[in-house]
Amino acid sequence: MGSIVTRLQEVKRRIAAASSAAGRDADSVTLLAVGKTQPVDALRDAHAAGQRDFGENYVQEALAKIEALRDLRADLVWHLIGPLQSNKTRAVAEAFDWVHSVDRLKVAERLAVQRPPGMAPLQLCLQVNVSGEASKSGVSPAALPALARAVAALPADRVRLRGLMAIPAPADGFEAQRAPHRRLRELLQALRAEGLALDTLSMGMSDDLEAAIAEGATLVRVGGAIFGARG
Ligand SMILES: *Cc1c(COP(=O)(O)O)cnc(C)c1O
Repeated sequence: MGSIVTRLQEVKRRIAAASSAAGRDADSVTLLAVGKTQPVDALRDAHAAGQRDFGENYVQEALAKIEALRDLRADLVWHLIGPLQSNKTRAVAEAFDWVHSVDRLKVAERLAVQRPPGMAPLQLCLQVNVSGEASKSGVSPAALPALARAVAALPADRVRLRGLMAIPAPADGFEAQRAPHRRLRELLQALRAEGLALDTLSMGMSDDLEAAIAEGATLVRVGGAIFGARG
């Protein structure tokens, strides 16, 4: 319990230092606590320490946690950051606040149809494969503009395109870590120049959040540095 509080404070200190080094307000960076494979009690501890945004990778695991933390639902923001198959979109549309891993129009269309009317629109990011590895998910930079235009045109009362997400290949050293984050920022800027109203860059994890913030991350996804080794 105590250690989650301490680690959370340390991550916030890193975010504040990186923001200040970049001439940015620390408030301009949202911290997403990534709780994959962590028990519900660890998430409760993080919530008790003031954490509100939680990210999960696996749909089934996330749905069980959302249910187990139903008493806190109004106080939590749930983000799906892992791969989303078409056959799971309905449960996701009904349970989450954000999906960061959209990389196909079909998935976004299903989320739009399946988001229950009356709920706030589901907030979407497009996952971009900035490192160009064949094995990684994410839309290619070349295919991104067409996908972004199509997703942005979906009904705004159901889904809202907010920005881009990336999981760059691990790299050593600040400059090497910065390069893919810069690429994602430039892709976002190009879409904004086309007139899309996007405000979110979901990038940066435990090992590279400073490099991501230097390149404009508005949301960093941090697991290990908050929760310690995975359970
Ligand atoms: C696990 C994970 C994270 C957090 O990674 P850490 O290195 O533990 O901070 C962030 N984003 C995604 C998509 C992840 O799967």
